[in-house]
Amino acid sequence: MNKADSLKLADSLEKLGYAQAQSPEDADIVVCNSCVVRQSAENRVASKLGALKAIKKSNPDALIALMGCMVGPEFHELHRHFPHVDMFMSPQQFGPLLDLASKRISNAAAVDYVPTEVPPATFVPIIHGCNNFCTYCIVPYRRGREISRPIVDVVDEVRSMIERGAKEVTLLGQNVDSYGHDLLEKPDLADLLTTLNDVDGLQRIRFLTSHPKDMSDRLIETIAKLDKVCRHISLPFQAGDDDILAAMHRSYTIDQFRQLIGRIRKVMPNVAISTDLIVGFPGETDAQFEKSYQLLEELKFDMVHVAMYSPRAGTVAAKDMVDDVMPEAKKERLDRVEVLQEKIETDINTRLLDSTVKVLVEGNKKGRWYGRTATDKLVFFDDSRNLLGQTVEIKITKTSPWSLQGTLV
Ligand code: SF4
Repeated sequence: MNKADSLKLADSLEKLGYAQAQSPEDADIVVCNSCVVRQSAENRVASKLGALKAIKKSNPDALIALMGCMVGPEFHELHRHFPHVDMFMSPQQFGPLLDLASKRISNAAAVDYVPTEVPPATFVPIIHGCNNFCTYCIVPYRRGREISRPIVDVVDEVRSMIERGAKEVTLLGQNVDSYGHDLLEKPDLADLLTTLNDVDGLQRIRFLTSHPKDMSDRLIETIAKLDKVCRHISLPFQAGDDDILAAMHRSYTIDQFRQLIGRIRKVMPNVAISTDLIVGFPGETDAQFEKSYQLLEELKFDMVHVAMYSPRAGTVAAKDMVDDVMPEAKKERLDRVEVLQEKIETDINTRLLDSTVKVLVEGNKKGRWYGRTATDKLVFFDDSRNLLGQTVEIKITKTSPWSLQGTLV
């Protein structure tokens, strides 16, 4: 979501006549786009902001802005900590910065707007905010309540992305499955996917993140039926124990989650499913963690994003619950999940050995091309030609838990 917001702001600044600088030291405007989903992310933003002090000192005219989830409704405290920051903007509140930027730029300095190319695989937000208020999560407080973009807006943006080089879009939202409920005609994600599937030049559509309580059978059937929609679903379960799920305010039970995965795999046997899991939520006992571990063994996800619980100030969990799982226990649980998952992903990826997969080439790293399959597997291969943005067939010759390697067919 932050990448998409940054691209959007950069695009608006380019339209005003600004161009990309080589480094923050050379820039007239520096915007730090912040994420506070975990404490470590917030710490990194604070350290970046500290480093920008030197820039402000050597160039007092430079405009320094902090954007994103770190900026809550009350940002006086932030201002006190970072007095060299000129502007504080909540997520997507670009207006004041663009007004100031437009006043500052002189016509002489303005460069002509030429739409910049976008990556072959790019992001398009479809719903902002979240109404769910999971007790550990700061997002609803910082990004506000759900606001969906009308289908026609999304289609326009996707078309513009295709004109600028995109082949694949990932539709973004904190909870994409609740897309459309706030719009007049009440379209849902299935309607949006169906419309986008007909957009010329668009090759692949992804979406994230889904919420187990909102993923409908109609959506599952629609994904299965549409040829451009990738067979990859990101479906966080967060905990394997019903009491912990209730304390997290996740609004589903593990049995309901298990049945949902069953329905998805029945309709799409080759679908890849990734998930998110929190270990060490307040009150999580060893036995409750074992249930998460067993669910991973049972359901065998293609990827697991696992995080140790850390309290975020302002959330219900931080206010009303005691962070009573010792850091060592959290770390041990995280390590166990990672070891298990490495084994599961090794098994899943080994099955792809000698098969041929379709890969959208997204870039070149150290002389090797890389891209992803529709099931979100990262694939590396060698070729001397420029294949950026092309969809190629790769025969898989080597696998690891995290990526695949192969040769062009
Ligand atoms: S659904 Fe996701 S974004 Fe919304 S409150 Fe829960 S964890 Fe946060």
